Amino acid sequence: MPDALANLYDFANTLDLRHFVHHGVQHQQADALGDPSALGDWLSARRLSERGAIPSQKAFEAALRLRSAIRDYLKCDPAERRSKPAILDPLDKALRSFPLRVSASGKDGLRLQRADTETEAQPGLSAIVAELYDSASNGTLDRLKMCAAEECQRVFYDRSKPGTRRWCQSTLCGNRMKTRTYRERQKHGGR
Ligand SMILES: [Zn+2]
Repeated sequence: MPDALANLYDFANTLDLRHFVHHGVQHQQADALGDPSALGDWLSARRLSERGAIPSQKAFEAALRLRSAIRDYLKCDPAERRSKPAILDPLDKALRSFPLRVSASGKDGLRLQRADTETEAQPGLSAIVAELYDSASNGTLDRLKMCAAEECQRVFYDRSKPGTRRWCQSTLCGNRMKTRTYRERQKHGGR
């Protein structure tokens, strides 16, 4: 996972929908952003906000809308991401709460940072929106994907050379899916 995508990756995976059974143990679904104070803790653990700062209910809702729009975007096949209004429109709407500007100060040179405008959204999340933009412009965002296994849906970074991986772990999610498809074909008398 490139550092430049770390916050975006972690943010997308704060919703853990995995519910498969592995080694006889059922994975428990969880949401690390269960309420505004959990969002505050998550942000401060990544130095994206001050410790103890609790986001407002509105900021919390904007954060969840952003996460949901980002997850839907990453679920979409990279080749189709630019042509799906059903995914792009909600993302566009969610992003409006997080205006950015180009900053020239700081040792990293020119970079995107939160614009100093009136917004109820949580400022720390602008760093994630900046990662989204930067990775889209340098092409690495196409490698951030959602696992195609319905019982997983974890966001992963595809390091494979062709960039065509569909499962977070082919030995787990991929095999499970292939076994199931095989069984279903057997059941329905297919090939
Ligand atoms: Zn998976």
